[in-house]
Amino acid sequence: MAKGVKAIRGMNDILPAESYQWEFFEQTIHAWLATYGYRNIRTPIVEQTDLFVRSIGEVTDIVEKEMYTFVDHLNNDSLALRPEGTASCVRAVVEHNLLYASPQRLYYSGPMFRHERPQKGRYRQFHQVGVEALGYAGPDIDAELIIMCARLWKMLGITGLRLEIGTLGNAESRALHRSRLIKYFEQHTDVLDEEALRRLHTNPLRILDSKNPKMHDIITDAPKLIDDLDEESRVHFEALQHILREQGVNYEINLRLVRGLDYYNRTVFEWITDRLGAQGTVCAGGRYDGLIEQIGGKPAPACGFAMGIERLLALMSECGKEISRPVPDAYIVHQGETVMDFAWETAEFLRNQGLKAILHCGGGSFKSQMKKADASGARYALIIGDDEVQAQQVTIKPLREASQQASVGLDAVLDIINNCN
Ligand code: ATP
Ligand code: MG
Repeated sequence: MAKGVKAIRGMNDILPAESYQWEFFEQTIHAWLATYGYRNIRTPIVEQTDLFVRSIGEVTDIVEKEMYTFVDHLNNDSLALRPEGTASCVRAVVEHNLLYASPQRLYYSGPMFRHERPQKGRYRQFHQVGVEALGYAGPDIDAELIIMCARLWKMLGITGLRLEIGTLGNAESRALHRSRLIKYFEQHTDVLDEEALRRLHTNPLRILDSKNPKMHDIITDAPKLIDDLDEESRVHFEALQHILREQGVNYEINLRLVRGLDYYNRTVFEWITDRLGAQGTVCAGGRYDGLIEQIGGKPAPACGFAMGIERLLALMSECGKEISRPVPDAYIVHQGETVMDFAWETAEFLRNQGLKAILHCGGGSFKSQMKKADASGARYALIIGDDEVQAQQVTIKPLREASQQASVGLDAVLDIINNCN
């Protein structure tokens, strides 16, 4: 027997039994973003590798070991499947000069690709919704981004998320912090693991992110960025906290919050749950004031975040959020010499009224068609035989309740279905 072709490990099919939950999520997202005035931007899934190397950073997990990079053999270009959306969004904004007249509130949604070890909540193709506010210096916009998340969690029925915020300061305070960290870790090279040693002089901040228990103590005692923080960033961070407090959004300050991407400065934040095991961060973001210039645009500040759709859907289910499966209003069962035209007419009539109607296709006995009607989840079966065609009526049979069936005209069918909505 020929061996079947399978999907790639870590890249999942989303089947109809699940996809309606994605549709609910997407509809909620669109309504939510519209209420805050964010507009959609759609960029290609493939970009030049250089875009991500330059923006995310050469010495990051994503670029070093998670990115799907390949050579387009038709012209020898080095390309990459996007591992995240901010870089592409900024590239498009710069390329099309969108910040020329005014700042931009933008969002995107779609698949991202990272070659990680697949496990629950961690996939090689996963999906993000990303929200980016470009051209805003904050901290008001930083607060808006966080506060709008809080509203979304309510809309999705998600409870118990913890908000952690931190600040990375400006470029100078980070440079100062970096040199302090290098000096400090140089005194502890005996405890550093191989990866930390490798990153000691290229990206010492990454060492703080290590989960190696052997290094836990030296990481805890390492110099803290807050002590090197520049005054402007301190004021920015205070102002953000003030708005959050005024708006009743609870937060914890985490001065060790290091994001896995190099472009962040000042505000960083994460929304974290304890309900999904190790993959607890469902949404993460921050300010990236240097990125636009780095990608070739006129310097402009910006802030944004991305959330993982798979993790949020899993969390909604953990929180007991029930999403009802959409069901057809009517399933049209028909059999006889003369019925086909009337069956079509009935189906299209209902659809013209905005109702969901499935017209049985493929023939079969009444009994087998009724089974299909039942399995479809439809609220009513509309039965059409030669007698019904003669009388220009359909027999309407409720499938979800014990009331009687009746033979009625199409307008009456409409009344029955609508009155029971
Ligand atoms: P993690 O610490 O879990 O690896 P990250 O810091 O790499 O996450 P970001 O790059 O900030 O994640 O992406 C934002 C969000 O996208 C994450 O909070 C998470 O919800 C989701 N996400 C990231 N990587 C994956 C993945 N491989 N599979 C599923 N969701 C992911
Ligand atoms: Mg990661």
